Amino acid sequence: MNILLMGPPGAGKGTQAAELVKEFRIPHISTGDMFRAAVKEGTPLGKQAKACMDEGKLVPDEVTIGIVRERLAKDDCKNGFILDGFPRTVEQADALGTILKDLGLPAAKAIHINVPKGDLIARAVGRRICKSCGATYHTKFNPPKTEGKCDECGGELFQRADDTAETMEKRLSVYEASTKPLIDYYEKAGAYVAVDGRQAIDKVTKDLIATLKAK
Ligand SMILES: [Zn+2]
Repeated sequence: MNILLMGPPGAGKGTQAAELVKEFRIPHISTGDMFRAAVKEGTPLGKQAKACMDEGKLVPDEVTIGIVRERLAKDDCKNGFILDGFPRTVEQADALGTILKDLGLPAAKAIHINVPKGDLIARAVGRRICKSCGATYHTKFNPPKTEGKCDECGGELFQRADDTAETMEKRLSVYEASTKPLIDYYEKAGAYVAVDGRQAIDKVTKDLIATLKAK
């Protein structure tokens, strides 16, 4: 079960990935973790990536792809994996196809946790976080008993600086523009499924698992 997990910022991708790890007992591989591991292990590609990052440069595609290849060749990926944050471009998607073929692994399926932009903006704008314990609330969907105060510890609730309509609008537009070609790519290959991410978290999980088992 080789899964590419896609979803806009705020769609709950991390939460769902954790559930899929439990269900299918396959590793969740995020691009960030993969880079950090390669750098820590000091592999030749990890060293190249570190040199770029230290200089504030973008890591070249061939280095990123090489790191993905090394990671997917490891034993824990034999029965499948959940890739998160890769591929980002059609070129990378092509490269991933080649890697899987070379490793004798089945082609990947793209699963998209789909949440409309308006919903994500509403979620972000109403989000409130406790300064003391980190509990999260929503002014409309999950309000605290007393306005501005945490139910758990009585701490003060605050709004994150980037939880504004403007910031979310910008981030989501960038996300949509960069994701569209990938959706088209996997749709054409018959390897794209979208799940309705507006539902309750456990319902989204159920849908994801059912979708993956059906294919
Ligand atoms: Zn609190």
